[in-house]
Amino acid sequence: MTDCVFCHKENLVLVAENKLALAFYDGCPVSRGHILVIPKRHIKDYFDASHEEHNAINRLIFKAKQYIDKKYKPDGYNIGANIGYFAGQTVFHFHIHIIPRYKGDVEDPRGGVRKIIPSHNYNPKCNKNDLH
Ligand SMILES: [Zn+2]
Repeated sequence: MTDCVFCHKENLVLVAENKLALAFYDGCPVSRGHILVIPKRHIKDYFDASHEEHNAINRLIFKAKQYIDKKYKPDGYNIGANIGYFAGQTVFHFHIHIIPRYKGDVEDPRGGVRKIIPSHNYNPKCNKNDLH
């Protein structure tokens, strides 16, 4: 626990908090207002959280959205969690990214989180059976 960056609350720039969860600015934001929401308990990922923690985290996601809407006025959001090294997780304390998106921040926003695997770009005519 001691070497976990998210367990050192004093290093986090908090935006909101409740009994079981925290919301704070991402230290390396990918857009203006990028916020992380985590459980206070040090657990590895999304699937280790209790129902109470998921509820607490979900409430903070809504609070963070209100905060971001007011302060940054984004045009959209991506919300997501990386679960496991091969899905991109580097801090093994469960966290959900709330990434505000802005008109023009990428040339073609279609597909959003689908672009995490660049070779599988958004294709409006995609064949549903391609990967099944
Ligand atoms: Zn931790």
